[in-house]
Amino acid sequence: MDSLAEIIRKCEELAFDLKFTRAKEWKSLDKTRVLVGHMPIYIPREVVHAANGLAIGILGGGDKKLIIKGDAYYQSYICHMPRSILELVMDGHFEGFDGFIFPSICDVIRNLSGMFQLLGKGRFIKYLDLPQNFKRHIGGEFYKQELQQILEEIYKINGVKVTPERLRHSILLFNKNRRLTEQIYNIRQEFPWRMTAADLYHIVRAGYVIPVEEHNEILENVIRLIQEERGDPLDKIRVMVIGAFCEQPPVGLIRTIEMAGCYIVEDDFLMGARWIQGDIDPAGTDPLSDICNAYLEKSTFSSSVYDVDNPKEDRMIKLMTDRKADGIIFAAPSFCDPALLDHPILQKACNDKNIRFISFLYSENTGQFKVIKEQVGTFSDSIKLWEEPVLFGNKE
Ligand code: SF4
Repeated sequence: MDSLAEIIRKCEELAFDLKFTRAKEWKSLDKTRVLVGHMPIYIPREVVHAANGLAIGILGGGDKKLIIKGDAYYQSYICHMPRSILELVMDGHFEGFDGFIFPSICDVIRNLSGMFQLLGKGRFIKYLDLPQNFKRHIGGEFYKQELQQILEEIYKINGVKVTPERLRHSILLFNKNRRLTEQIYNIRQEFPWRMTAADLYHIVRAGYVIPVEEHNEILENVIRLIQEERGDPLDKIRVMVIGAFCEQPPVGLIRTIEMAGCYIVEDDFLMGARWIQGDIDPAGTDPLSDICNAYLEKSTFSSSVYDVDNPKEDRMIKLMTDRKADGIIFAAPSFCDPALLDHPILQKACNDKNIRFISFLYSENTGQFKVIKEQVGTFSDSIKLWEEPVLFGNKE
């Protein structure tokens, strides 16, 4: 049986294997298997799984890919991730992928889907319009048609007919995956010293590039191992990190926050893996509609979702309270419109409730963390030293 250190080492290797070796091996074992790459933040992976596909999360090159050609495709004042994705495209990393899905989260991703089309990548490119109307008979019906189009595209490639039984089986597997992931977050909420946030990050990210069945086994082993006491509690504050849902922060940044005196007890890294809150109905007569209804009614809050009836600032504060966090770190990718347009709303809510927060920007390839370490360290010390809430926002 692997030790926790061994599991984490393997997950780190899988998570940052930019050649997607395990996924390509998986595909090579059966000619009806397909690989479908998808951009952040969320797609319903159950649908691809039911069609004998593996949905691969494409999260950019991080700090592991030098950008030479990718910069030529975008102006300088947008986020970094699409440039590294294009660099991966042009260096052949996605050879063997059958299709690509681009969820409708921002203009940058929309334009990226066009570039994939121009470059002739994959046998299909799907720009997935996620509904912003949350009524089942309007947004739900629309979304179902979108998902049917994906199934038709995959069918054209592998001839696999998706039955309700196949969909229900996939729903069960991904329900389990989300439950196990949440269980790890819950254990860490109580005992954050047992496993670092950076290690958890590698474990969740590995699930973006391997079959869900294998990832579920990994998660079960991790849960068994972190239920035992390990490590020692340290005098750190507990924080929630918000804003890093799409372009991912370098792991060095996550480690820097931890080394500067914080336990990260909640975050929105790799948000797609935890998007649906709770289970999708695994026993309905129309499982495709059940997947759609879960999106309409059980999605987490996000900058890419219209939320007039369920404001994200209220949900953020509830989440922070549930996790017993001492403060919030707003960490967003530079030039990320969705994240940065939300910050004033979210930070006003913090000010109104006397919740302590700091804010900074990063790129996936940021390499210098000294300033961030000092900022986070000061934040942590000030929370530890002052009993009364100290405001870091604009409130007098
Ligand atoms: S980081 Fe922000 S702006 Fe860039 S692709 Fe993601 S959501 Fe869009």
